[in-house]
Amino acid sequence: MDRADARQPTIRTQILVAGAGSTGLAAALAFARSGWQVTLAGRFPGPLAGRTVALFEASLRFLESLGALDAVKAKACPLETIHMIDDTDQLFPVPDLTLRAEEIDLPAFGLNVTNDELAAILLDHARAARSFEIIEANIADYEFEDDGATAILEDGRRIEAEFVVAADGRASKARAAAGIDITEWTYPQIALTALLRHEAPHDNVSTEYHTRSGPFTLVPLPGRDDAPNRSSLVWLMNVRDAHKRLAKPREDLEYEIEDYARSKLGAMKIESDIGQFRMGGMQVSRFTSKRLALVGETCHVFPPIGAQGLNLSLRDVADLEDCLSSVDLRNDKELARALARYERHRRADIGLRTHGVDLLNRSLIIPHLPIDLIRGAGFIAMTALGPLRRAVMREGVLPHLVLPRSMRATNVPEPRARGKRFARV
Ligand SMILES: Cc1cc2nc3c(=O)[nH]c(=O)nc-3n(C[C@H](O)[C@H](O)[C@H](O)COP(=O)(O)OP(=O)(O)OC[C@H]3O[C@@H](n4cnc5c(N)ncnc54)[C@H](O)[C@@H]3O)c2cc1C
Repeated sequence: MDRADARQPTIRTQILVAGAGSTGLAAALAFARSGWQVTLAGRFPGPLAGRTVALFEASLRFLESLGALDAVKAKACPLETIHMIDDTDQLFPVPDLTLRAEEIDLPAFGLNVTNDELAAILLDHARAARSFEIIEANIADYEFEDDGATAILEDGRRIEAEFVVAADGRASKARAAAGIDITEWTYPQIALTALLRHEAPHDNVSTEYHTRSGPFTLVPLPGRDDAPNRSSLVWLMNVRDAHKRLAKPREDLEYEIEDYARSKLGAMKIESDIGQFRMGGMQVSRFTSKRLALVGETCHVFPPIGAQGLNLSLRDVADLEDCLSSVDLRNDKELARALARYERHRRADIGLRTHGVDLLNRSLIIPHLPIDLIRGAGFIAMTALGPLRRAVMREGVLPHLVLPRSMRATNVPEPRARGKRFARV
């Protein structure tokens, strides 16, 4: 720590949100909206090549409760239909599965927006709301005590908080400092991501081809004057193929993408950098400690199948907001009860998604007849049985296990006054 930093006063806050990714920004906005005195610490994320995020109905309601939905809508494309095609060449043919939002009385399942635009919208919103303090510096270390925590910033400044919400990603320092164990694993896959222009319109349909190396998914994006038809690509493949494809001339890769998409959208043009993300999974031993709760990728990581990751992260945030809503943070017993509730909810919700995605991914990449038959039977049942199909669709967009207040259609929590708010941002 240099002398100038040592002279700076300690920053005091009720809730410190660590990490300024989309989860952290949403958490800071939500807790400030609930009346907590909030400080957000972390550097803003850089651009994520070719990455978009599909946000489903529950997440859209949450963004609406934060006042950010209109801005997201202006940059996003609605997902009205999801088309799943089995491309594994398994022994018994599997029918295509088409899911339509109108079947569950929704105009769309959700919206697809680039990660960069979403983060920029949340940041603009945070700056305009001026409801919490933003400190653009990473946290180097933590000291957890029984009645609070101190975060030491990289520049030596200190933040004293009654409670820490860790949104600092999969390598979370807050989680490590609190002594929470993790189990990690990898899949022999890389996801290549890109933004594409194509000849034919997508009609707001997302198409998922299930191949032996993982899903190849095209998700609709809004058109622009110079490119009326656009989609994003998430393509899971084995590591060797990913390296080969990345080394190819762009034009050859564009032909291959068109080929994989069975030319349904016509010729393809890659308009972004190509992103590459090694696939892995992670589970945590606990979601909380005495003065800490984990949200987002600090407590769940799995492959991007079924667009669950950020939707689950926003549920973590909204659920924690509910659990803490009537808690006096200085009362250990009240806080412990609220955190036990959060722990129970998250264990069920996150466990279900992590195992579901793991099972589907492994059932694709491990060619094994009985597993193929079970997956095929699932597709057939979903195609034939309307009530089952609708139940699965509802669970995807409005999960029944835990649906926090701000994700229900009405009942947006009223702001509460709990202490001094920051006006400086
Ligand atoms: C290819 C791909 C496609 C996906 N598609 C979807 C989708 O369609 N729908 C969906 O819901 N999810 C999707 N996901 C998942 C989703 O993108 C992630 O779950 C989400 O971006 C994670 O956000 P986060 O804020 O939790 O973590 P991160 O984005 O990793 O943010 C963590 C933040 O913490 C900061 N940080 C780290 N260390 C510190 C520190 N010491 N101090 C302060 N700050 C720190 C980092 O700089 C970063 O800004 C996809 C994922 C992949 C890989």
